[in-house]
Amino acid sequence: MHPFVVRRLSGPLYDRLRFGGRIAAAESDLLATDRAPREALDALTRGRLTALLRHAAAHVPHYRGMRPEAFETLPLLSKEHLAGDLVARDRPRPARVRRTSGSTGAPRSVLVDTESLARHRAARRVGWRRLGVGPGDRWTMVWGRDEPRGLLYRAAVALAENRQLVRVEDLESGTADAERARIERFDPKLIYGFASGLTLLAARMGTKPRSLRAVVSTAETLPEEDAARVSSALGVPVMHEYGLTEAQVVATACEAGSLHVVEENVLVEVVAGGRAAAPGETGEIVVTDLFGYAAPRLRYRTGDAGAFVGGECPCGRAQRRLDLRLARSVDLFEVDGRRYHPEVFTPPHGFARFADLRRFRVRRTGERAFDVEVVLADGARPEPVLAEFEAAIRAALPVRGLVLRMLAVPRIERGASGKLRYFEDARR
Ligand SMILES: [Zn+2]
Repeated sequence: MHPFVVRRLSGPLYDRLRFGGRIAAAESDLLATDRAPREALDALTRGRLTALLRHAAAHVPHYRGMRPEAFETLPLLSKEHLAGDLVARDRPRPARVRRTSGSTGAPRSVLVDTESLARHRAARRVGWRRLGVGPGDRWTMVWGRDEPRGLLYRAAVALAENRQLVRVEDLESGTADAERARIERFDPKLIYGFASGLTLLAARMGTKPRSLRAVVSTAETLPEEDAARVSSALGVPVMHEYGLTEAQVVATACEAGSLHVVEENVLVEVVAGGRAAAPGETGEIVVTDLFGYAAPRLRYRTGDAGAFVGGECPCGRAQRRLDLRLARSVDLFEVDGRRYHPEVFTPPHGFARFADLRRFRVRRTGERAFDVEVVLADGARPEPVLAEFEAAIRAALPVRGLVLRMLAVPRIERGASGKLRYFEDARR
């Protein structure tokens, strides 16, 4: 699609229909504060936080009666606590249910305000502008799984966002040449995806698409040597974006390669040993979505590690900078010489019995054999859940002779590393 059409016609139309025009409004708002001095940002975020806390204390059962000035002493909110008592009771707000991919094997659904979704889409746009990529420009997204959505969905995505989707398994032998040609024909200005997918794509591309300006890696750490490899193969800088389903886009890159927190949208804390970490000191990243009114998640634990970077950024922006030490990196796995992202084992967006699924883990026991352990919600009947889950995995992992052992289990223990992972190779 020609960028002009998306920028001027289909993009704004999509924004109007789906977000009530909020993306465009939020983008001008963010551009206005992009270069704001520190004091102005502090005043802005303090105001937004106070409003959110007042709302939470008045209308959200979990926070009822909380004193807004006691924010810093509020207990951190864990992933386990994404329950109904976080939902505001005063009035329904435009919000959408989002599902966390469940990198720990415990997928959950969270309520995200439409306003917040729009603000974060706008934040991404503002971040990409810094890299020379404007609204409407073509971009390619490398992703781990193909959502079971048809041509209509792809057409809508192309029209609304000028986005091309590339599945990581299509970059493997057999289809790799066709995919490379498809990307070259599309000629993206930006390539976006998770680290291992980008590494694979860079290895397959060989040459730089003509218009490419930047590669943005997200969702997992791209080790420095891989980033250098991707950058040299594609001839453009590799930047990072940090986000999560529960708080969307948290930090975006600048021209200098720093990762600036989108402070206008999200309050970020780095907590070590129960207190705020000093600049340079690593701790857990804790976020509060300042536009999350439908189900406020105050001081939400991301499980990700990072540190604030002290000093000033060469770009001159005052937004705080993060140095990420993400531990969410994912290993692709190979079946019959083709590589797949473990996301093929996660329940897709359209999964009907999502609420019946508490936790799952996939253990590989042979070349084409996997045990899928599932912990069900109380009272859920196992057969329909296991049957739908099996069908979803088979659709996402089209391997001939695939053996799936679907098992309802009472609990899933943490692995030797102490971390919960939803996929592991039990043969090692
Ligand atoms: Zn900067």
